[in-house]
Amino acid sequence: MQKISIVISLLFLTSCAVVNKHRSQSKSQYVILKLDDLWYEDNLVHEGWTQVMDFLNEEDVIGTIGLIGSSLEEDNQEYFEWIKMRHDEGHEIWHHGFCHCRQTVGELEIREYRGKELDDQCESIAKTQRLAKEKLGITLHTFGAPYNSTDVHTITALNKVPEIKIWLYKETSFTTDKFLLNQIKEVNIEYPVHIPDFEKFKEGYLKYQSEPILILQGHPRSWTEDISRLEDFKKIVLFLKKQNVVFITPLEYLKINKEKN
Ligand SMILES: [Zn+2]
Repeated sequence: MQKISIVISLLFLTSCAVVNKHRSQSKSQYVILKLDDLWYEDNLVHEGWTQVMDFLNEEDVIGTIGLIGSSLEEDNQEYFEWIKMRHDEGHEIWHHGFCHCRQTVGELEIREYRGKELDDQCESIAKTQRLAKEKLGITLHTFGAPYNSTDVHTITALNKVPEIKIWLYKETSFTTDKFLLNQIKEVNIEYPVHIPDFEKFKEGYLKYQSEPILILQGHPRSWTEDISRLEDFKKIVLFLKKQNVVFITPLEYLKINKEKN
C-alpha cells in the first residue's frame, strides 16, 4: 500500500513538474540565433565559428548553423565530425544553399534562389539535402536562403522537399506551406551586416520585448576580424540570458507550436 502511494505521489509530482515547465515556457520569450555561412576553409573550420560555438556551449546556449552544401562535396572527416558534434550538442544545422553564389548578367544580379531557373533551384536544394544525409547523417529541416533572396520558383523547389518544414527570413509574399520564422529588422545582432553592435541591439530589443520569438541573424566568420565584434555578440547573448529568454532551434520551436495548436 505504501509503495502504491509513493508511486502515485511521484506521478503527481512529475506531472506537476511538466505542467510548471510548460507554464513557465509559455511566458518566456524565445530566441533563435540564426548563424549563417558555415564553409570549410583552408582545411579549417573558421575560428569565428569555433570561438562562437565554444562560447555558446560554455554558456549553455543553443544556436543554429547555416550550412553551405558545397562544403560537403569533398571528404573532410574532421570537418564532418565538427558539424556532427554541434548537432549532437543540440544546435540545429540548417540548409543555407549549395553554392551561396551570385552572378551579374547585364544589369541583373542573379542569386542562387532569385532569378535562377526552377530546375537549378530544385537541384541546388536537393544537393545540399542529399549531401547532409550522406556525409553527416543529418536530415535538414530548416531552410534560409543566401542573402535571404528568393523568388516564386523557390516556393515550388522547397515544396518538393517535404522534410524541410521551416523557412527562415522569407522575404517575398508568395504563399508557402512552410512554417515561417520572420525577421524583425530593428532587432538584430549586426548593424550593419557583419558587425555586432550591443547598444543598437539593446535599443531594438527593448522595443520588441513582448514578441513571442525573435530570430537574430549573424555571421560568426566576420567576428574575429575585429575582437570587439565577438565581444559585442557575447554581450548580446549574456544580456538575453539575463532577460530569461529561452534559446531554441527552429525545429524545437515548430514542435512547441504544434503542441499548442
Ligand atoms: Zn549567407
